[in-house]
Amino acid sequence: MKVLFVASECAPFVKTGGLADVIGAVPKTLAGMGVSVRVMLPAYPALAEIAASGEAVLELDDLHGGPARLIAASAAGLDLLLLDAPHLFDRPGNIYLDMDGIDWADNALRFGALAQVGARVALEGAGGWRPDVVNAHDWQAGLIPAYLHQAREGGAADVPASVMTIHNIAFQGLVDAGLMGALNLSPALYTSEGAEYYGHLGMLKAGVAFADRITTVSPTYAREILTPEFGMGLEGILGARRGVLSGILNGIDTEVWDPAADAALAAPYSAADPGGKAANRAALAKRFDLRADTDGPLFCVVSRLTGQKGLDLLLDALPALVARGGRLALLGSGDRDMEAAFVGAAHRHAGSVGVIVGYDETLSHMMQGGADAILIPSRFEPCGLTQLYGLRYGTVPVVARTGGLADTVIDANDAALEAGCATGVQFAPVTAPALAQAIERTCDLYADRPAWEAIVANGMAHPVGWDRAAREYLTLYEDACA
Ligand code: ADP
Repeated sequence: MKVLFVASECAPFVKTGGLADVIGAVPKTLAGMGVSVRVMLPAYPALAEIAASGEAVLELDDLHGGPARLIAASAAGLDLLLLDAPHLFDRPGNIYLDMDGIDWADNALRFGALAQVGARVALEGAGGWRPDVVNAHDWQAGLIPAYLHQAREGGAADVPASVMTIHNIAFQGLVDAGLMGALNLSPALYTSEGAEYYGHLGMLKAGVAFADRITTVSPTYAREILTPEFGMGLEGILGARRGVLSGILNGIDTEVWDPAADAALAAPYSAADPGGKAANRAALAKRFDLRADTDGPLFCVVSRLTGQKGLDLLLDALPALVARGGRLALLGSGDRDMEAAFVGAAHRHAGSVGVIVGYDETLSHMMQGGADAILIPSRFEPCGLTQLYGLRYGTVPVVARTGGLADTVIDANDAALEAGCATGVQFAPVTAPALAQAIERTCDLYADRPAWEAIVANGMAHPVGWDRAAREYLTLYEDACA
């Protein structure tokens, strides 16, 4: 089996969110299972050195305004195909946004080009390698299933199967339909059952409409996106294609995220030997200027600060957290108003609430290592990774009952406690009072040491690696090819 992954980000090279973790991990795990995988990415500046070490397998005279090459290279255990098109991708700063924080005006062409070249590799091969299946990820690769459909309609034989994976349906790549011609898309695709979305070209919608299989990153989210509340306008086309839609839960890299061997921690620890947690808790409290004289749990948040993540609700629930002797260490960045609101809350609750605005991978490890619980009050969450890190680090996830959060955390209700399977706290509806109640319930559980220790131990024993997901992807690819 040969599989081409096409995506706009990939850990450890370029990452703005969970998508990158999946692209960095699943191909590696599949390769370990004997699958031949290539990961195609834009050659951003962060990948320039790796690109320089590779070899060109395709040359294009003109790709939307400049020459381009596809470079085969290997790094971080991955076989990469890097689309080197400096006029599109050699830009400073964020991969999606210009210096003013606004989407690059030519994002449609930048990622349309990625999809075009991805489809070309699928149809013609590159460097003597051609995939059986293309797995397109999110809107940036969404046009690939459309190109492959177009090739089939045009009579091409032996067209690879396509899988469209939705990591976050909030980002849909809605662009000017006038670009269809420039992107070499047939007008025949521009229908309400196809690539058209209320007068625009919908890049994710095109993928959903034309892929042989559609996946998203948890079974609950796969059901949720069929509803108007979560489908963000795509519930109709998804409903029409529900027969090929499924959810495959993400995993995490259990080598990168291993409390027994994490260089970011003050002290290593494990389920068998959890004593090191105390030293990590103390280090974390110090880093966030939090008081030491309390018996309550130390909560953490590691998150983008956006409406999706529901952290505005946490602002409202903070008094309950503080009143119960809890402490909060928050690391996040995003919405400027929310950043300012949390900084203000840290001033108001000095010693109980500490806030660091920014993106800091090393600190995020320290937080998972040092906190007792991690708060994730998301309004929607396709899968979520931080609750999985939390389970692995014995940092009890307190989560909204939605998407992948609902699928990965077992609520510590009486029945689950009695059965000995609880791994965290879930709450619904996703409101400030329900979150405050969940925080109070967490404080109660924390005070009951045997119960708390059992929840921590259950979480640490929960399998969170990529093996299961990779096996499910492989079965799906085999099914799509058949
Ligand atoms: P999303 O992709 O919607 O942001 P996920 O939970 O799927 O949410 O993935 C978020 C990833 O980004 C996790 O690996 C998390 O640790 C990381 N992350 C988010 N914010 C920060 C931050 N401020 N500093 C460091 N890592 C962060």
